[in-house]
Amino acid sequence: MLVDSHCHLDDQQFDADRQQVLDRAREAGVERLLAIGTGSPPDLEVALRLARQHSFIYATVGVHPHDAAKATPEIFAAMETLAAEAKVLAIGEIGLDYHYDFSPREVQRDVFIQQLKLAGLAGKPIVIHTREAWADTMWVLRENWTGGGVIHCFSGGPEEAGQALELGFHLSFGGVLTFPKAETLREAARMTPENRLLVETDAPYLAPVPKRGKRNEPAFMVETARRLAEVRGTTPERIAELTTENFNRLMLNC
Ligand SMILES: [Zn+2]
Ligand SMILES: [Zn+2]
Repeated sequence: MLVDSHCHLDDQQFDADRQQVLDRAREAGVERLLAIGTGSPPDLEVALRLARQHSFIYATVGVHPHDAAKATPEIFAAMETLAAEAKVLAIGEIGLDYHYDFSPREVQRDVFIQQLKLAGLAGKPIVIHTREAWADTMWVLRENWTGGGVIHCFSGGPEEAGQALELGFHLSFGGVLTFPKAETLREAARMTPENRLLVETDAPYLAPVPKRGKRNEPAFMVETARRLAEVRGTTPERIAELTTENFNRLMLNC
């Protein structure tokens, strides 16, 4: 069994065949899914609505850095209430995105920090999105976070991996791991301790080779898990086993 630790099942690209996508995931052995609840403009329940319908889907709630400028006190109050629900396993994806700069950087940092406080009070781990903002992300986390979490779609090299691991984070590897040019990322995947590894699709984005360029879906995660096994000199079965254990320990406390 595999767990997709990060997918956007609410995406409109799945509107026409969402049920088939979920069926294919389970047929491929991807039997547990963490749906990311950062709807835009802040719609905190996009993932939770699906999690309420399916026992094998769990959810997060959060305001994506893209939408930081749209976060209001009402949004934070609603997030606090939703974070108490059993099916909400984490706060995310939250963080900093200096690539698109859809929200001013100062606002992104402020909304990130507020959500770290909220996660701390709720006792939930966090799912981090960071793009072209690595140093600031590490700085904010060092100052404001002592709990558990995951760097989603980790795309750094060994040095960045070392920094995140030192802070206690799990690293989640997605389709990029299979891209020909991602050698430093594969180096990071090689040095990550067994108990900090996770896998994800980030569907519908970033499909792994040989589906690269197509709409991604959770079933395709088998390709990423296979590549990760190759990189680490182990079997796909072992990768499935340990990433599932890690997910359960971090997100389900079991
Ligand atoms: Zn992201
Ligand atoms: Zn995402």
